[in-house]
Amino acid sequence: MPEITLERAEENSRRGLTYDYLIVGAGFAGSVLAERLAAGLGKRVLLIDRREHVGGNAYDHLNEAGILVHRYGPHIFHTNAQRIVDYLSEFTEWRPYEHRVLAQVDEHLLPIPINLTTLNGLYGLSLTEEQAQDFLASRAEPVADIRTSEDVVINQIGRELYEKFFRGYTRKQWGLDPSELDKSVTSRIPTRTTTDDRYFTDTFQMMPLEGYTKMFERMLDHPGIDIVLDTDFEVVRERVSYQHLVYCGPIDEYFGHCLGRLPYRCLRFRHETVNQEQFQKVAVVNYPAETVPYTRITEYKHLTGQQHPLTSLTYEFPCEDGDPYYPIPRPENAELYARYKALAEKTPEVTFLGRLGTYKYYNMDQVVGQALALYKRIADAEAEVGQALYAQQPIAVEN
Ligand code: FAD
Ligand code: UDP
Repeated sequence: MPEITLERAEENSRRGLTYDYLIVGAGFAGSVLAERLAAGLGKRVLLIDRREHVGGNAYDHLNEAGILVHRYGPHIFHTNAQRIVDYLSEFTEWRPYEHRVLAQVDEHLLPIPINLTTLNGLYGLSLTEEQAQDFLASRAEPVADIRTSEDVVINQIGRELYEKFFRGYTRKQWGLDPSELDKSVTSRIPTRTTTDDRYFTDTFQMMPLEGYTKMFERMLDHPGIDIVLDTDFEVVRERVSYQHLVYCGPIDEYFGHCLGRLPYRCLRFRHETVNQEQFQKVAVVNYPAETVPYTRITEYKHLTGQQHPLTSLTYEFPCEDGDPYYPIPRPENAELYARYKALAEKTPEVTFLGRLGTYKYYNMDQVVGQALALYKRIADAEAEVGQALYAQQPIAVEN
């Protein structure tokens, strides 16, 4: 991977090399765009990250025991978009993997999303699929205007199941009651009356065979890309010359929080390796009870298929302060983001991209899609005028 020092990038600028693009953030958004601009349009790109590695939140590495773990919590690739699979497949082979999650509720370990097995296990019943539909219908409390994450669940399955599986988890994860969050948050989790216990139903569900970091390293291995790690944008901005900036960090941070702080939910990760071959039956076990301080435990060997006499785990503890992991979907935050977006539109020399740059609770595939769409817009615009376009025209990202 073409990693250089900041001093070398500065020296390049002094010697008259102007980068076509400075991209801040080497996660999916920044890395995909860097690859496309360099390989597709022959651009010179400087990609920087304040962390000491590429991959953003999807970064994985071998820990001290030699087990492949994800530093920032479990990342499972799933998408319905063939073109996104095709694109990433240029840089990785895949391991088929269907994600399954259990939830610890009362004394039971039950499938989540709630399905027929969950209902029968929780209530000691042996309902058929049709009976389970009637069972849920009799408990559902219809909500006329479904706006919040509470409404959406209560409307589907009623208060008791909501309280057992959703209320506590959501309050821990977001530091807010589900009634204060947009319906899109808990809508990510369906309810089923079949025995299908997969977490996702997307057409493509798999893990990069040698891990995410290896995939990023191949993606970024291009002579048109220079990478500077462990370096904040603030340090780079005056020291390197470039034509256009793509910013994949928090949009409010770029603007010095001038309109106020956009709220993000943070996580603290506790990584552990234990002296046993298997710790739990599936990759992820959720703990919805509010009396337990973490939301879930991940055991990586289920995701990667790695064989090892020990096993490595991550506990996730949501918190107020720290790195911004989750934009928080609720109306007042969307309003504040809209004001930053309006400011961004008046700043045509910068394009904002990614989960933090566009303040969207996006999965990996959505961020890849967003970066590919931006690339297409740049390539199409250049093809139309027959020359390079940078700050002359805003390159907005639709969302
Ligand atoms: P990021 O990966 O956050 O990358 C942004 C990068 O910018 C960071 O590396 C940061 O260090 C850098 N940066 C920010 N500001 C600056 C600055 N000023 N100077 C220098 N560098 C800067 N998605 C899925 O599809 N499946 C999953 O299973 C899944 N699980 C997840 C689990 C957790 C715990 C979390 C938090 C997210 C999960 N996601 C999952 C979402 C996934 O992580 C994101 O969609 C994706 O990583 C976003 O990519 P990005 O490039 O937009 O942002
Ligand atoms: N959720 C819940 N109970 C669960 C799983 C999820 O209440 O057992 C809710 C919670 O609000 C969570 C949201 O559904 O934040 C989305 O879950 P997902 O697993 O998609 O979250 P992510 O992997 O993005 O953290």
